[in-house]
Amino acid sequence: MDITFIGATRTVTGSLHLFEYNNQKFLLECGLYQGHREEAERINRIFPFKPKDIKAVILSHAHIDHSGNLPNLVKRGFCGPIYSTDATKDIASLLLLDSAKIQEYDIAYLNKKHKQKGLPLVEPLYTVADAEQTVKSFSAVNYKETFEPVNGVRATLYDAGHILGSSMILLEADGKKVLFSGDLGRKNMPIIKDPTVIKDIDYLILESTYGGRTHKSIEGMTDEFRDIIEKGRQKNGKIIIPAFAVERTQVLVTMLKSLYDDGSLKDIPVYVDSPLASNVTNVFRKHPECFDKETYQIFIDEDPFNFAGLNYIKDSKESKSLNRQSGPMIIMAASGMCEGGRVTHHLIHSIEKDNTVIVMTGFQARGTLGRKILEGADKVWIFNEDYKVRAKVYFMGGLSAHADGDELCEYVKGCNSRRLKKIFLIHGDIEAALALQRDIQTAEDIDVDIPQSMTQVNV
Ligand SMILES: [Zn+2]
Ligand SMILES: [Zn+2]
Repeated sequence: MDITFIGATRTVTGSLHLFEYNNQKFLLECGLYQGHREEAERINRIFPFKPKDIKAVILSHAHIDHSGNLPNLVKRGFCGPIYSTDATKDIASLLLLDSAKIQEYDIAYLNKKHKQKGLPLVEPLYTVADAEQTVKSFSAVNYKETFEPVNGVRATLYDAGHILGSSMILLEADGKKVLFSGDLGRKNMPIIKDPTVIKDIDYLILESTYGGRTHKSIEGMTDEFRDIIEKGRQKNGKIIIPAFAVERTQVLVTMLKSLYDDGSLKDIPVYVDSPLASNVTNVFRKHPECFDKETYQIFIDEDPFNFAGLNYIKDSKESKSLNRQSGPMIIMAASGMCEGGRVTHHLIHSIEKDNTVIVMTGFQARGTLGRKILEGADKVWIFNEDYKVRAKVYFMGGLSAHADGDELCEYVKGCNSRRLKKIFLIHGDIEAALALQRDIQTAEDIDVDIPQSMTQVNV
C-alpha cells in the first residue's frame, strides 16, 4: 500500500491522505484547510490528484478540518462512497451545509467589493447544492464492522473517544495492519466512550496536536465550573460562554445539568443560543449507541441534554431579547473562538460591564477574538468598533477533546508490540510533533517520522 501524506502534515488543519493499492486510490479524510485567506484558497481549491480517480473516502469524524473539503471533491468529479459512522454522517451533514452557506455568504460579500473596484468576480469553493450532493454520498458503517473501500483492502472503524461518532481507521491489506488514529480523545470524557486501544498493528499514523503539553484533568472541571458560576451569580451579571457547536456545548450542558440536579445552579437560567448547536444536540439524542455507560443510564430515564431552566434559543428575536434582560444568567453560544456567530453580539453588549463573566472553554487560535480576550487585552475590536474589556475572564482548560502528550505516549505504549514498525506523526504543529517524537522515542525503541506534505511511503 502506498500512502501520500498531503494535508494536516506539520500543521493541525486540512486533513487529507491518499492511499493506493493495486492502482486503486482512496482517501482518508478530505478536510478544509483553515488559515489566511490566500493560502487557504490555494490549498483547498486544487487537489494534487484527479478527484474522479478516487474510488472511496473514509472519514474519521465530522470536524470541518477533516470533512470540510468533501463538497469540493464531489464538485470536481469524485462520485464514490464516503464511509463513516452514522453519527459522523449526521453531524457532518449539518456542518457541511453550514460551511457551504458561509462560503456562499463570504463570496457574495467579497464579490460586492470586487464589483466596486472593477475586479473579476470569484466563485465559492462550493455551494449549498454541492454540500447537499455530498451528503447523499455518505455510506454509514458501524464500529467494528469491516468493509472494503477498494478491492483487497479491509477497513474497520473503532471509537476514538474524541467527539460523538469519531473513529480511528484500521486498514488491512496483504497481512499488514495500518492504524490511523484520527483525532484521539481522552479517557473519562463526559458523554462518549474512551478511545479503543488497538494492538498488533504494523504502522501507526498518529495525531500530535498536544504533543509535549499537559491538560488539566477532566475530573476537577465540574467543581471549577461551579465556582465560576457562583462568582458570576454574586456579580448579578451575565455569564457568557463561547462554545463550539459540536461536543463542547453538549458536554457543558451535561455538566450544567449535574449542577442543576445538585442545587448549585439555583435559579440561574441557562440559554443555548446557537441553532447549529441545537441541531447537533438533536443528533446526539439520536445516537445513544455512542454514549458511555453513565450517559446511557441517564438517557434511559430522561434527556441528558435538558433540565428545567435550560432554554434552546432558535430565532434571532429571542436571542436579541436577552440584551435587554439583566443577570444572573448563563448564555452559551458559538463560535467557540468568538470569530462570528451570536456570541459576538452578546460580547458587544456585555464585555464592557464589570459584572460580566466570560468563560473560555476551548483552544483559541492565534489572531482570533477569543485569543485576545483570553490573553487579557484591555481593548478589543469587534465589527469595526473598539470595546473596553471590563468583564472578568476565566479559562477552563481541562475540557480538551484531544489526548495530551502523556496520553498520546500512553496510547502508543498500549498498542505497542514487537510488531509495530513505524509511527508517522500528523495533525500537529512541528514543535508539538517534535516534542511527541522525542517523548515516544525516549520511552520506546521505535522509529517515529514526521512526514512533510506530499511525502510518499510504501507500507
Ligand atoms: Zn477533531
Ligand atoms: Zn482535527
